[in-house]
Amino acid sequence: MYRESEIRKLYERLKAQYPQYQLECSGDSLTLKRLYCKIEVNQSGAKLYVNEKLYDQFTSEDVNDTDDLYELIEAFLLDLQHAGMKQGNQTYIFAAKQAAKMGSRFLIGIAMCFTILMIGLITANSPWLLFLIFFIPAASLLILKQMQKKIFQRCWICPACGQPLPMGGKGHSCEMAYVPQCPHCAHVLEQPPELATIQTEYAPQKPLELSHDLPVQSSKLPCILCGSFTIAFSLILLPLIFVPDGNEPLDMAGVWTGVGMLLYLLGFGLALLLCRHAEPEGTKQPMVIVRERMAVTVLGIIVWVLGFVLTLMGVIVAGTPPFAPDVTAFVAIPGVLLFLLGVWMLLAGRNRTLVVFQDNSILYISSWSRKRVFAPGQVASVRLTVNRSIHLLNKDEKKLCAIESNMRGIPRFVEWLESTNLAATLTPAMEKQTKQEEQQESTVQWREEYHTRWHDHIKGIRVGLWVVILLFAAGVVAPIPLYLSGAKFTTVMKIGALAPIPFLTFCLVFAPVLLFGDRPQNATPEWNAMHIHVPLIPCLLIGFAYFWQVGNVWGGWVLQESDSNWGWLLRVLSITAILTVLQVLRTPKRLRVGAGLFMGLVGLSIACGLHYCVNAALIGPAQHYPAVIVDSHADDPDVNDDDYELTIVMDDGSEAEIVVLESIYEMAMHGEPLEVCHLESPFGVIFLDIHTPKINTQG
Ligand SMILES: [Zn+2]
Ligand SMILES: [Zn+2]
Repeated sequence: MYRESEIRKLYERLKAQYPQYQLECSGDSLTLKRLYCKIEVNQSGAKLYVNEKLYDQFTSEDVNDTDDLYELIEAFLLDLQHAGMKQGNQTYIFAAKQAAKMGSRFLIGIAMCFTILMIGLITANSPWLLFLIFFIPAASLLILKQMQKKIFQRCWICPACGQPLPMGGKGHSCEMAYVPQCPHCAHVLEQPPELATIQTEYAPQKPLELSHDLPVQSSKLPCILCGSFTIAFSLILLPLIFVPDGNEPLDMAGVWTGVGMLLYLLGFGLALLLCRHAEPEGTKQPMVIVRERMAVTVLGIIVWVLGFVLTLMGVIVAGTPPFAPDVTAFVAIPGVLLFLLGVWMLLAGRNRTLVVFQDNSILYISSWSRKRVFAPGQVASVRLTVNRSIHLLNKDEKKLCAIESNMRGIPRFVEWLESTNLAATLTPAMEKQTKQEEQQESTVQWREEYHTRWHDHIKGIRVGLWVVILLFAAGVVAPIPLYLSGAKFTTVMKIGALAPIPFLTFCLVFAPVLLFGDRPQNATPEWNAMHIHVPLIPCLLIGFAYFWQVGNVWGGWVLQESDSNWGWLLRVLSITAILTVLQVLRTPKRLRVGAGLFMGLVGLSIACGLHYCVNAALIGPAQHYPAVIVDSHADDPDVNDDDYELTIVMDDGSEAEIVVLESIYEMAMHGEPLEVCHLESPFGVIFLDIHTPKINTQG
């Protein structure tokens, strides 16, 4: 039996989350009405109606937890809405399709621009291009949002009265807010849902009907563009590699390695153009078509860009005399492998198809456009592997072909399996998995059992998050101007050491309400309202700035840590590990993966900075002793990031390398006396500086 207070609470929660539906509560019973559906809850149980017919019911014994009850009701309402979004509401479907079509074209365009820029960057090495590479993704996202908004403003309008329908989404109101009826003239936008009522077991199997909604062929454009690009570039570079650079003679071993790689590029560039297939035509009607998702092509373009750029770098490294096989291999091997993977994905996106015809014969086209036809009955069983591919087997259990369970058209393929006797060979694991695939768009709902005392203070915590992020940023930025205006080194290091502490403490204390990963795609507004998203990119940027200034400003110009070797790595990794483990322990189980990844990344950059600042803030007085220089290295102007280096002997007899200014280097080379400035922190971390004996600034 549900208590009256429980029903009251359910009413308040539904009222707050779904104010658009008609809700009535009279003590011990509750009714909710929406277009085409009704929900009745009383003390003994709940009944759900669709189109005036009973759809589902359960008693208070079946569902004895009010969280579960709310979850079921909400899932039912969202199912109806989902049915409207996918089938019933033509206005909504049309607008969504228009936006998706424009979006995918736009993204392919951006990916192409990006590729050209990347190649430009390698050849021209201009900082402006680098700026563009960071700028384009951000700008394109904004443009995409604006274009979507325009499309929704044009298409998401009431067909009866012509008024714009409601928009939602965070801040910019650039997403459609779903409505089954026009709020202005009450025009019904949604056709009655065809929700199957609770299925009786052993329903008679009916043969699959023809469908007009089969996945269509993907665009040929990505393959053609990437292919032509690859071929053009390798043909241009092929003669250039034989041209000697200045007066240095060519190293033929390197040149031939480069030529080999260019031919490899050329070959697969041709494959991108030539591996194509003809769509099945003729009298046989396709019943099921399975194809790769758009995401495969998009990912393929990204991997192709990376592979192409790395391979080209490999060609340049190989062609530059003297030939260095190790450096070439280091760049070229990942490049060659990524390039192959990218080409493969691009071709899979274009070609890979499985078609089942009305007579149950099957046509399979592989990524490399090889066609295979299986007669009816040749496929004797179906197997699902651990990495989620579906293998079609003949009667000797030999694999005929394979498709992935995340491809387009899989739900219908499963329906087809069920309509034939092949379904009997399905493992329960596969049935469960294909169900999950269908529910991939299922919602993430809020449960009252997640509630902690921090959830009553969401607003305050949200403000607090920005305060600690700003404090962290201020603590990272402040030391440099303070030091330049004359503050003591140890004082600014104390500020640096304290900078990330409020942020880290905040993350640990408020972990139950913080969301470190991305918001789940289908979370309910209630779920979203109960979680504060911690922005990864700003935190990571501040963390990198922190780490960068320690390495380049303080370590480079003021005081160097003497051992940047295993000891340092070990200490930094242990700090990161401790932070990550604490964060994971503090975070509820359902959010742990995101929290762990976040703290692993941000924590690592913080640990690098923190290690230096804490030790530098606590250094003891300086010891001075004459510098014994055992080795030196001059700055090579041709090599990026090269420095003047001296190797000195410390008072305990061990050697250490110090990066020095050119003037100090010259003095050392002329044998002028220099003094080592040796400082130690209580944790045993040694800092070194080198200067002339008379100057004595540090300590
Ligand atoms: Zn209207
Ligand atoms: Zn000194």
